[in-house]
Amino acid sequence: MCLFCDIVAGKIPSAKVYENDKVLCFNDINPAAPVHVLVVPKKHFDDIRDMSHSEEGRMYMGEVISAIDKVCENKSLDSGFRVVNNCGKDGGQTVMHAHFHVLGGTKFTEKII
Ligand code: AMP
Ligand code: ZN
Repeated sequence: MCLFCDIVAGKIPSAKVYENDKVLCFNDINPAAPVHVLVVPKKHFDDIRDMSHSEEGRMYMGEVISAIDKVCENKSLDSGFRVVNNCGKDGGQTVMHAHFHVLGGTKFTEKII
């Protein structure tokens, strides 16, 4: 059982922002910014490294990039945004299905790097 597989399957509801046959984008349940959308490949990959290990995973990564652009359009993130991927335990990943946080709707002042 995987939480995001269940959301993709419609077994758990989500507030959809954008969807196609490869990716689902929905609002994070605990937003860290005025806009906080999760971009999730519809096929299960454990994390971004898992995605990198197959041709199919790399194809899904391309779909993720395209979906990020759709989210930006949909949410009018014209003046910028952040994309965050937490990978693995030390990276702070809590849901072990690869996903990308799109954060925006504010001007970020603090720099992580
Ligand atoms: P991460 O900590 O990078 O693995 O991100 C997991 C994210 O999933 C967190 O920001 C959670 O708030 C979010 N989340 C957990 N459950 C749900 C849910 N049912 N619907 C939407 N977002 C969720
Ligand atoms: Zn999954």
